[in-house]
Amino acid sequence: MVRALLQSGFDQGGKALTLAQAARQASLSRPSVVTVREQLRSVLAPGDGGESSQTISLDPDRGLAIGVEVRQDELTVLLTDLLGMPLGEPSQEGKSLEEDPRITLDRAAALVERCLGEAGRNSEDVVGLGLSLAHPVDPRHSGMVRALNMTEDNAWHLWEGLGDIRQQLRQRLRWSGSQAPGLEHFIADNDANFSAFGESRWGSLRGMQHALYLHWADGIGSGLIVRGEVDPGVGGVAGAIGHMSVSDGPDAMRCPRCGLSGCLETVASGRAILLSLGREYSLGGLDELVAEATDPDSAAFHSLQAGAFQLGRVLGTCLHILNPEAIVIGGAFGHSVFDLVRNDGLEQGLRHQAVPSALDDVNVGGIHRSRFRTHTAVRGAITRVLWELLPGFLCRKAEQAT
Ligand SMILES: [Zn+2]
Repeated sequence: MVRALLQSGFDQGGKALTLAQAARQASLSRPSVVTVREQLRSVLAPGDGGESSQTISLDPDRGLAIGVEVRQDELTVLLTDLLGMPLGEPSQEGKSLEEDPRITLDRAAALVERCLGEAGRNSEDVVGLGLSLAHPVDPRHSGMVRALNMTEDNAWHLWEGLGDIRQQLRQRLRWSGSQAPGLEHFIADNDANFSAFGESRWGSLRGMQHALYLHWADGIGSGLIVRGEVDPGVGGVAGAIGHMSVSDGPDAMRCPRCGLSGCLETVASGRAILLSLGREYSLGGLDELVAEATDPDSAAFHSLQAGAFQLGRVLGTCLHILNPEAIVIGGAFGHSVFDLVRNDGLEQGLRHQAVPSALDDVNVGGIHRSRFRTHTAVRGAITRVLWELLPGFLCRKAEQAT
């Protein structure tokens, strides 16, 4: 029931549902909807006609959700209301790739506390916290980061050594009191998985049963949706397509993150494409690339299409494994270059690698640009927090109010 209201909030920005609509969307009888509304009355938005009201909706200000995203070079905190609408601009701080993760977590906790203070809220208002990382998180051990290679992946094997990073962050927040969120209200996952979850609730993947979300930014990853749910695989490595090999020739570059050779990420990530033009990865540099690549005779155009072709080939292989009905191209790089590569390098790579039947299937649901250019993962983390934890949060608040 709460999820039906939440989905309506994502779809329509918080417009109230009629009791009949709520019953249909929650697969409940109308009397059951009225009963639930009575139980949650103190925490829902006041209806327009008291007990006789024919509508039901969430009160978006009844609590808040927190998203924290740790990237290789950046730390982001975002607070939203109960419908996922930001309470302000995301708060961001730069970080170095080599920064000790304990210091990163100290800074993340301080940033969360500062954002809460600026919003005039406290921990009792918090539904939960989603922590997004640029690496796999092991679903067998909650909150445990997996380095791709313990000897090569220097920056991230330190994270793996920390154990449950949810616990590490929660300890630093020093939230006390019986109403403060416990460890079970912290969710940690990979950025592509969170992004895929978000797109499946408020983006182009809404309602899709088999789909792929491509996170194409400074690195490359993906989130897989199987039977309507994000599938992390047995140990969280599913979708790590940036480390599929596209070259085994003498020029194949050794990948600094995983130790293999010829990884897709070394030739087609936003960082690699900009590097091939002698530039560093940044949003500003990305805008320049897009402007230059509109000229088909430019070096920017050729570099971009060559990378997109390799990416298309790997996505083509994925079509044979996953047979998706749709793909979303996201990440700051993918979002920015979508129009330039969709029917050019990317399409050529897909056609080179995928059988027409698999390509036909994905073209039914479509290949789309992600809804947001930036902050997709942190928004996705918040969406998952609300989806999984809001029903329990509202029930507890309603019990306290009686
Ligand atoms: Zn690699």
